[in-house]
Amino acid sequence: MNDGKTRRTVVILGGGTAGWMAAAALGRFLLGPRWAVTLVESEAIGTIGVGEATIPQLQLFNRSLGIPEADFLRAVEGTYKLGIQFDGWGWRENRYFHPFGFLGLDLEGVLFSHHWLRWREEGGALDYPLFSTETQAAAQNRFGMPPPDPHLPALGYAYHLDAGLYAALLRRYAEDRGVVRIEGRVAAVERDVERGDLRALTLDDGRRVEGDFFIDCSGFHGVLIERALGSAWEDWSHWLPVDAAVTVRSGPLDPLPPYTRSVAYSAGWRWCIPLQNRTGNGLVYVSSLIDHDAAERLLLQEIDGEPLGEPQRIRFRTGLRRRQWLGNCVALGLSAGFIEPLESTAIYLIQVGIAKLLSYFPAADETADMADVYNREMAGVYEDVRDFVLAHWVVNRREEPLWRTVREVEPPASLAERLARFRARGEVLAGWEDLFKEQNWFTILTGQGLWPEHHHPVADRFTFEEIDQRMRALRAAIERRVAALPPHRAYLGRLLGKTA
Ligand SMILES: Cc1cc2nc3c(=O)[nH]c(=O)nc-3n(C[C@H](O)[C@H](O)[C@H](O)COP(=O)(O)OP(=O)(O)OC[C@H]3O[C@@H](n4cnc5c(N)ncnc54)[C@H](O)[C@@H]3O)c2cc1C
Repeated sequence: MNDGKTRRTVVILGGGTAGWMAAAALGRFLLGPRWAVTLVESEAIGTIGVGEATIPQLQLFNRSLGIPEADFLRAVEGTYKLGIQFDGWGWRENRYFHPFGFLGLDLEGVLFSHHWLRWREEGGALDYPLFSTETQAAAQNRFGMPPPDPHLPALGYAYHLDAGLYAALLRRYAEDRGVVRIEGRVAAVERDVERGDLRALTLDDGRRVEGDFFIDCSGFHGVLIERALGSAWEDWSHWLPVDAAVTVRSGPLDPLPPYTRSVAYSAGWRWCIPLQNRTGNGLVYVSSLIDHDAAERLLLQEIDGEPLGEPQRIRFRTGLRRRQWLGNCVALGLSAGFIEPLESTAIYLIQVGIAKLLSYFPAADETADMADVYNREMAGVYEDVRDFVLAHWVVNRREEPLWRTVREVEPPASLAERLARFRARGEVLAGWEDLFKEQNWFTILTGQGLWPEHHHPVADRFTFEEIDQRMRALRAAIERRVAALPPHRAYLGRLLGKTA
């Protein structure tokens, strides 16, 4: 693809979160004497604009770009996130917290959860959430950076952010590094007659934007990957049937929670995401079970405080594009696939796509081999996230029609296997490359009432007294650590130089 002499161009279509994340990363790692980067977007079409909760991996993305955390949080109205509180998922009165970071401390190569299960069977009296710094700090609306402690795991955290402000920050970053932005609406796509590759985009005022490699970040429009290249969309709505959302902003929360809330209802669920000066709210629902007006009324009735502005409605489809890389085009973001925002994974999936694209960026005209590797790996990443999100739905005892249906539909074989393993031995055998690890599965499955029949036999090699002593010492250390953390808003105020 690059003869080493001519300067080639990557054209990114779309200026939502995906487009500007790609532009910033390519501006940082690819743009130079051999490659130029151009981004085309249409303000008239606009962006989805939601996407306010993230997972810890975003720290790595910002770090790779060299954006300091305080600058980032200031620019995006950001707050810290220690995990997600789930209300009503397993059954109506059910509540549990899914934290980032580690649960307890593994001992002699055996997961903490096995030791804890065994300890509980023999009379240990403390619930496992007491062994998570993140869960305990969240319950007290505290946040801070605890000093390193060899006997405790490092704190796991992510951010809540304003997605529009994040795109604006990345746009400044990308343009400062030479990425060229073109405002305009793509009306037609030109393809190479022989190879079928993309050659140029024609805008509705007749301008032509030529490129050698294209990144489709046009969201659900799928302008290049679907409309021009015909790459098929695999529908996952029989497993994950929510297909619409209504969103509205409300005033800031005080005290400021360092966590996202997810509350289940008969026809869907509601998120609550606290930012510095406002709160993001949304109800995700099945449009055949509740109409848009009723969904909007439910959201407005349930949010804390007064709404700021008019509610917005969004339709979406859940699924995966198996061939996300086709010819000289890669899809990122909503044009590549979508899984509802229950575990805040969409921005992460964009990040993984960008990292893999940079790793496999074509060195020559022949891209088919790299495309196969990329598509296989990305499908695995999406399926892993899908299974974890779906597990929240499948493991429930609610009696409304939606909850009964999702429980009764046959899950993907990969999830069925994981659930069976968990029931039998308290672990799903998550792979090293999986986003969600054993502690994540343990927390959400037991949180929703699915308890394993056995713990790992190696956990039996300690005496009860030995384990009991370690459990109590660990609990006391976590308690001390959490008590030393300041309120979330005070910590942010100090970091950003604002009054708390
Ligand atoms: C209800 C909901 C809640 C979500 N919550 C979260 C969350 O909490 N955390 C998270 O990580 N993610 C979340 N997401 C996902 C997140 O919003 C998206 O991953 C993210 O916004 C990326 O979108 P995008 O950039 O792919 O597409 P979009 O934001 O739709 O951007 C598409 C871009 O393409 C341009 N475009 C389209 N067609 C043309 C054309 N013909 N010519 C020129 N330009 C064009 C548009 O102008 C726009 O700039 C959520 C998504 C939904 C639907």
